[in-house]
Amino acid sequence: MLQPALSLVLEALREIRDSREKPFRVSRATLNRLLESRPDHNVADIAAKAAALGQVRDRVCVCMKCPHLARSRTQTVFGVGNPDAELMFVGEAPGADEDARGEPFVGRAGQLLTRIIETMGLSRDEVYIANILKCRPDMPKGVSGNRPPTPEEMRTCIGYLIEQIKIIQPRVVVALGATAVEGLLGARRVMRELRGKWHSYHDTPLMITYHPSYLLRNQSPGEKRKVWEDMMAVLEKLDSAAAVYDRRKSIESVIR
Ligand code: URA
Repeated sequence: MLQPALSLVLEALREIRDSREKPFRVSRATLNRLLESRPDHNVADIAAKAAALGQVRDRVCVCMKCPHLARSRTQTVFGVGNPDAELMFVGEAPGADEDARGEPFVGRAGQLLTRIIETMGLSRDEVYIANILKCRPDMPKGVSGNRPPTPEEMRTCIGYLIEQIKIIQPRVVVALGATAVEGLLGARRVMRELRGKWHSYHDTPLMITYHPSYLLRNQSPGEKRKVWEDMMAVLEKLDSAAAVYDRRKSIESVIR
């Protein structure tokens, strides 16, 4: 019984040692927190998931499926967070900041997403954050800003995200904005009709909410409140009633 688990851990350690990537480092306190978040999962489960994600990441790093994006990117942006996360956020594609840093959601929209996660009583390293597209969509020479990914780019890249979801097995996926929804569900749909309701993605409960950059553009308290309501529904799915009550109080204080 123990032998297969040990082999997995050894293989994971060997892969981490041999990979060109920065090793997966985790402090004892973080490891304890990760283990507490999924008490039925053990170190071998987490190491196996980290190793499996590492293998997908290695393929993504050298991906040439969209030659125009491979040419223009600084680096691929794979995903970040807990390989055993219960909650996974999916955005559309890296922007200029993410392309430069190699990490999703680190620009202005990312800072707002981090605040949303923290107000939920979680941290970025407890959840997992990824995008539909692993490369920044290219921009014409001399033009700044970002463009949304095309349907074809999303269809080409979505397989990597599906692999990430299958490995992590989050209990809930949150899709951020209409483009992420289009990437996941394969069709452009009206956000107003989709958000705030439970959907399903490869058998995982899917909550659809507004993209943080929409909230940055549209500062109306009503739209902000809708995102908090969606996040409350996510917490209710994940959590015990008592924890939800505490978090509801802190979220209510942010909405006001
Ligand atoms: N917007 C996204 O959808 N993803 C990022 O990583 C950053 C901004």
